[in-house]
Amino acid sequence: MEDPETLVVEEDFPLFSNSFSSKKPQNPPPPQSQNPSLVSKPPNPTESTESDSGSLTFSDLGLAEWAVQTCAALGMKKPTPVQRHCIPRILAGADVLALAQTGSGKTAAFALPILHRLSENPYGVFALVVTPTRELAYQLAEQFRALGSSLHLRCTVVVGGMDMINQAQVLAQRPHVVIATPGRIKVLLEDNPDLSFVFSRAKFLVLDEADRVLDVGFEAELRVIFQYLPKDRQTLLFSATMTNNLQALHQLSANRAYFYEAYEGFKTVDTLKQQYVFIHKNVKDVYLLHILSQMEDLGIRSAIVFASRCRSCHLLNLLLEELDQSVAALHSHKSQSLRLAALNRFKSGRVPILLATDVASRGLDIPTVDLVINYDIPRYPRDYVHRVGRTARAGRGGLAVSFVTENDVHLVRAIEAEIGKQLDEFECKENEVLADITKVFKAKRIATMKMIDDGYEEKAKERKSQKLKTLAEKGLLKRKRKNKKL
Ligand code: AMP
Repeated sequence: MEDPETLVVEEDFPLFSNSFSSKKPQNPPPPQSQNPSLVSKPPNPTESTESDSGSLTFSDLGLAEWAVQTCAALGMKKPTPVQRHCIPRILAGADVLALAQTGSGKTAAFALPILHRLSENPYGVFALVVTPTRELAYQLAEQFRALGSSLHLRCTVVVGGMDMINQAQVLAQRPHVVIATPGRIKVLLEDNPDLSFVFSRAKFLVLDEADRVLDVGFEAELRVIFQYLPKDRQTLLFSATMTNNLQALHQLSANRAYFYEAYEGFKTVDTLKQQYVFIHKNVKDVYLLHILSQMEDLGIRSAIVFASRCRSCHLLNLLLEELDQSVAALHSHKSQSLRLAALNRFKSGRVPILLATDVASRGLDIPTVDLVINYDIPRYPRDYVHRVGRTARAGRGGLAVSFVTENDVHLVRAIEAEIGKQLDEFECKENEVLADITKVFKAKRIATMKMIDDGYEEKAKERKSQKLKTLAEKGLLKRKRKNKKL
């Protein structure tokens, strides 16, 4: 896999640059409160303020009364830092680049001001929100619908794996808010010329998890999408991590987008216990079973187990089923309907364990997740931060246990450097863990046979050649090889 960190967006990338040429520099938002720190401070990249303006209410941020009441009804008593800083700027018309931890309330930080403006002049399509994964698109739609419940909001999700004809028909009816993954919206726009005007009056473009959306795979899609959007829109970029692409965009915008960064250099929360267990790769499954079978005793309501590849995720699914564990699996080799079904079974509590690849590492907000297991150590530290961010959300506690083999030591060092702390050792009695070794090895043999029988490998090969074909069509194959040599 290519390192997205090495890719930098080109200078003509039409994100902020178009709008800035025609836009005056942004003024600070109008005074909404007596608190001088919020209203008079110019945008400052190092701004990280937990203590300032902590007493502000949603009403102080300039939001309409209906929005304030909706927040109260949803149990959102006061704005989180990212909301306190970004909502007034967005209401004042600024473009925003915000780095905020997952679970920090960043969705409401852009959804509330968009809905506020929509309520003043309702029409569709008012906002296009682009997000990297299908599951996040559905989750964002849920939040938009909840926050816009008193507006008769029409919000639609346009993602791959679902019926395109139906999506085109819904888009033609111009919903207020469209939440999309980049590939599908691009194809819909290109294949349906009659849809080209649907976004022509859009006021907002949001890139959620912007770092990933801007990875090279999506750059081509974004270029197409931009052609259908007006130049005088507001562009809002929200991301949990800073990447070279985002840095470059911010510089290209001559720093005129309001930049907000929360928790600088501090990317995992204190309420999260982060532990590791150093083991041989052959006994990972034995340790996994041991920890999962103790969940109830440890008071763990639900757990997500991350594997780095779809193949291992599928094999783990078969293995744990063989070991009578109640599990669901989420990875990109499944159809969209199976992915949604798996996620819903987990979210509703019908199964306590979700096996997932990094497709589930970002943004998913499931309050019952008390444990994250890194069955494989992620290759990039930022994926670790995203994964463990599925637990210990909104001030709650949580545990992350990472399985470290001798090949992973350098990866763990990089993670520790990134998060600025060392992982603690996970305490367990080896002889107790290994008591189940025969049972687990036997189940693994059966699971491996089942995987041969269900034709997974053939399907995976087919998918791979299809993907290579698509990359070649996009002209991305050559570029990847070139980057590899550097
Ligand atoms: P997000 O970072 O957007 O994924 O949000 C994480 C969770 O925090 C969601 O379940 C939101 O409903 C919740 N949330 C957002 N804003 C607030 C707030 N001001 N007070 C309490 N909860 C919030």
